[in-house]
Amino acid sequence: MEQATREIFMNFPVWMQVVFYVIGLSTSAFFIYGFWLRIKKYRRGREAGRFNNLVGRFFKALGMMATNATIFKRDTYAGVAHWLIFWGFVVLFLGTVTVAVDHDFLELVFEYRLLKGSFYLWFSLFLDVFGVFFIVGLLMMIFRRGVMHPPQLDYRRPDLPPEKYSRASYKKDDKTFLWLLLIIGLTGFLIEGLRIAAEGMPAFEKWSPVGWLIAGWVENLPVSTLHMYTWWFHAVIVLVFIAYIPFSKAMHMLVDYANLMFVDDLAARRLPRVTEEKMKEGMGYLKLEDFTWKELLDFDACTKCGRCHAACPANASGAPLSPRDLILDLRTFANEKLGPKEWFSQVFLNGNGKKDKALAGGVIKKETLWSCTTCMACVEACPVGIEHLTSIVNLRRTLVDEGEMEDSLQDALMNIGDYGNSFGQSERMRAKWTKDLDFKIKDARKEPVQYLWFVGDYASFDTNVQQMTRKVANLFHSIGLNFGILYEAEKNAGNDVRRIGEEGLFEMLVEDNSEALKDAQFKEIITTDPHTLNTLKYEYPEFGANYKVLHYTELLCRLMDEGKLKISKKLNQYKVTYHDPCYLGRYNRQTEAPRRLLEALGVDFHEMRRCKENSFCCGAGGGRIWMDDSKLEKRPSVQRIEEALEIDGVNLFVVACPKDYTMFSDAVKTSGNEDKLAVKDIIELVEEAL
Ligand code: SF4
Ligand code: SF4
Repeated sequence: MEQATREIFMNFPVWMQVVFYVIGLSTSAFFIYGFWLRIKKYRRGREAGRFNNLVGRFFKALGMMATNATIFKRDTYAGVAHWLIFWGFVVLFLGTVTVAVDHDFLELVFEYRLLKGSFYLWFSLFLDVFGVFFIVGLLMMIFRRGVMHPPQLDYRRPDLPPEKYSRASYKKDDKTFLWLLLIIGLTGFLIEGLRIAAEGMPAFEKWSPVGWLIAGWVENLPVSTLHMYTWWFHAVIVLVFIAYIPFSKAMHMLVDYANLMFVDDLAARRLPRVTEEKMKEGMGYLKLEDFTWKELLDFDACTKCGRCHAACPANASGAPLSPRDLILDLRTFANEKLGPKEWFSQVFLNGNGKKDKALAGGVIKKETLWSCTTCMACVEACPVGIEHLTSIVNLRRTLVDEGEMEDSLQDALMNIGDYGNSFGQSERMRAKWTKDLDFKIKDARKEPVQYLWFVGDYASFDTNVQQMTRKVANLFHSIGLNFGILYEAEKNAGNDVRRIGEEGLFEMLVEDNSEALKDAQFKEIITTDPHTLNTLKYEYPEFGANYKVLHYTELLCRLMDEGKLKISKKLNQYKVTYHDPCYLGRYNRQTEAPRRLLEALGVDFHEMRRCKENSFCCGAGGGRIWMDDSKLEKRPSVQRIEEALEIDGVNLFVVACPKDYTMFSDAVKTSGNEDKLAVKDIIELVEEAL
């Protein structure tokens, strides 16, 4: 066994070896050139501020890649297949590097061989096992695309009729990528089998079980000649693959690592500010160079897996928006203008070319941009760290600059600008809802309180939601909570204003609210509105307003734990499901507090198909609540009610967001389900149980 080793370039004349090295080096140079063209493109983007904590970022991305965790998420089949391909590829690649180092460096320079004896035997076994993983993973992916046809892999666009575009190249690229790898894997094993047979079947080669098996099948053939032809065929395919990487789907193997490494953990939760330099040209994006380098990297990172496309509520409602297509359109446009040329690009037909169009309203249609509910499902679903929402809002900023928006949206923004609320009511009316209370809520500007309740527009002005707001106030009062409000000094917190793209107005609101907060004395902020929660928690700190912010369900749980809130009555007459608001469950990762309350209430609780971080949007976010949704095939809120009704016998749909209460109360009525399902805020159940 000590003599166990393998011959590299078995029986190859020197000239043949030289030819191989010349072609190999040329291909590698072509590969580097391809990636240099990409890097050149990224360098044309604006600064993204992602070079902090590089070591931490490097290892975090490494962990994500090694575990394939983002691919396993909600798709075990794809996760397993990708894990097998990924690790098969990595081990085979490292094995090839080891062979090269052994042959071209250690043996050549030091006359030392690493690949011999027991190391060689374990090396051979390891590579065979991972080679099998590689092939099984590829076959699983080929089966998935060719037979399973999951809906997210359907390349049809929601915004264009089929005669206006062709994505046949995408399909070719998918097939080319998988089949090139499969041929490389299979021919690798075939070469191994032919070599073992040509060497006369030495017994130690049983440590290469697949090669040994193949050798047994082929040993009576002219194995030396076949070995040479197969070796060259394999080598050419490998070199073609290397050249193909920077210009095709295969680039994701490198680009996606970088994209995961430079991801912003607060992407979507905290939108980027407009720099003063950028502001001189306008808030939005007018040219490709306005995108940051991370956004340009995002466009290349997309693997077309379609997870965002399948998760998007706008797409599911028949709106002309697919986050996947938005990213791919920007990719096509960026590559046409800044290079490098994609070998397998989508094509726009019949006068639908995008080359010379404006970005917002041209390359990406304005209806597409206005369809987004900013639910963040796309960012959450994307396995490679693409931050769709950042680009969507940056493009919306251009539309806002140009006044390209619906009148109803313009009215809402004007109301917020003039009165500080979207209802267009006088500032003095903000606390009118408190008039019907039996007690006076403290004015936090005049006396210190423990909790500052930031009430929000809907809870303050919407007549249907006001009853819930009073219930919250009554509950806080009844348990002796020391709380107060800002009265007329509170303004719309600006979460939706920012996501509409009205950055100037958002900054005004932050300034006004920050001033009011500075005038008040309190320890923590509480709110019933998850949208308000998000912006106060994640965006205000950048403007110097740094406070601890809680959703009221978190506060109620805390009060339960402290024994200040005692829920004794059990509401087991209700069969309940709970809708996680996007801005609470997904944005803020708060999914447990509402469930703990429901458990304490003793209701018969059942989860919907999509829940927690994977919840489905009501359709109100990002300013959609002020826009016309009559053109949608089926509103997201109606789809969600139907999803709830899939639970046999469910009679209560519980929410924890004022906008959700409005949206779902309406959806239950318009879908004719009023007699089957009631919509209640969680506070109503708590009140009932007390
Ligand atoms: S944020 Fe939501 S609505 Fe907007 S593109 Fe992403 S998934 Fe679609
Ligand atoms: S953007 Fe992300 S989730 Fe969407 S198709 Fe591309 S890789 Fe998949």
